[in-house]
Amino acid sequence: MGYPPFSSLRPSACPALSRIVAARDGGLCRIKLPGGKLLAMQAHAIADAADVHGSGIVELTNRANLQLRGVKAGGEATLSQRLSDAGLGPRVAATESHDPVQAARQAAVADDARNLLLSPVAGLDADALYDTVPLADEILGLLQSEPRLAELSPKFSVLLDGGERLASLDHPHDVWFAAMPPAIRGGTEPRFAVGFAGQPSSTRSDALAAVRADDIVALIRALLVAFLDLAAPDENRMRDLLRSHDCHTVLARAAEKGSIDLQNDPEVGTWRRAAAEPIRRFGAYPQRDGGLWHVGGQPPLGRIDSATLRGLARLALEHGDGSLRFTPWQSVLVPNVAARAVPQVELGLCSLGFVLDPQDPLARVIACAGSTGCVKALADTKADALALAKQLPAGVEAHLSGCTRSCAAAHCAPYTLLAVAPGRYDLYRRDHASDGETSSPARDGALRFGERIDTYLTIEEAAKRLGEAAGAPIS
Ligand code: SF4
Repeated sequence: MGYPPFSSLRPSACPALSRIVAARDGGLCRIKLPGGKLLAMQAHAIADAADVHGSGIVELTNRANLQLRGVKAGGEATLSQRLSDAGLGPRVAATESHDPVQAARQAAVADDARNLLLSPVAGLDADALYDTVPLADEILGLLQSEPRLAELSPKFSVLLDGGERLASLDHPHDVWFAAMPPAIRGGTEPRFAVGFAGQPSSTRSDALAAVRADDIVALIRALLVAFLDLAAPDENRMRDLLRSHDCHTVLARAAEKGSIDLQNDPEVGTWRRAAAEPIRRFGAYPQRDGGLWHVGGQPPLGRIDSATLRGLARLALEHGDGSLRFTPWQSVLVPNVAARAVPQVELGLCSLGFVLDPQDPLARVIACAGSTGCVKALADTKADALALAKQLPAGVEAHLSGCTRSCAAAHCAPYTLLAVAPGRYDLYRRDHASDGETSSPARDGALRFGERIDTYLTIEEAAKRLGEAAGAPIS
């Protein structure tokens, strides 16, 4: 499958494999990883492509994908083809069309639609309620093959949560499914809670109903069609549709079309997702069987270079099964490591510059591309974040954002520094309305970051103010 330049046929601000979006530092190419998984040979292919066609910088995204920065003009189609040849493109059914533009459009639609988030330890976690990997493969197959999904926003996303302890529960999804524990339902047949425009919660029940695991693929198909049938032209996301339609009505319509039984017993109304433990992305944890472990680390500010990506591939080949799992926290796991090799993988990650200690200041600060990479940024958030990390009070987590779009964080961080001028930031504290929630565009502009508690701070002033606000000493 070839990838001619495609921006004009399927325009969007979202980068994709065949839609290289212009940024201040060159083009931006996003590579979607199914379940965050990447094979070592694919990591090498990306590293080589980053060197030849880009700046060599590879970003880890908060949807467990990768993106190449600094893509040079003129090489876009070659880059996309090269990545596709490495098996990093969408799965597209054979088409009878011999029209290359039509074929490219089909591939781009499939690439845009494959937005399915899993736990980075799906299929590995000893405490998971359900191994979501086979089901995820079916869902991805559906998302990449439904012609109707050409009408869907490239941002429309689905979460499939198997109940793993390492899971991201602060990203909003248009549709989410979360495994329910058998003990609650008093049966043996696996079933999942389903909800819209949010995520499963450990503090309240937002489940609209439960469905059998075997019905999920058919329900997603019916839901997406129902969404497209009901949504007005300016309603691109489920949250938009729910302003004009009742969520239960939308779900019931899809279930009826798909001939799916919705379960609405009292257990659904009281169900809470078990609390997740994002801290397990750092360091080594045992997997569910075989005496194997996964070992994780976080690169400073979510960026690595091509040499580091090759180093990760080497670690995976020498000590794991040759695969890597990227996470929604802009970090990586080396899975399937024998117990005896765990110290070597930890050492290897450290020598590549990854942070393995969650208390390390660089594990507690995130930043968007900032003014070196983005024309919208009012400050160099990356450089300022590194400066802040040197003074960050113990226990404080901070997010630096160049504008209100909040590209680095789908969730609302405890503290956000929003750029207002070069080197100057307003400080926001997550408030009750956004506590533990996403930085949802449902809350407009800077409101998504919580309560503004100070203005026009330098980084030094911000570090001091963060210490006061959190009552914490400098780490
Ligand atoms: S948050 Fe704003 S400034 Fe930062 S990368 Fe996104 S659009 Fe650019």
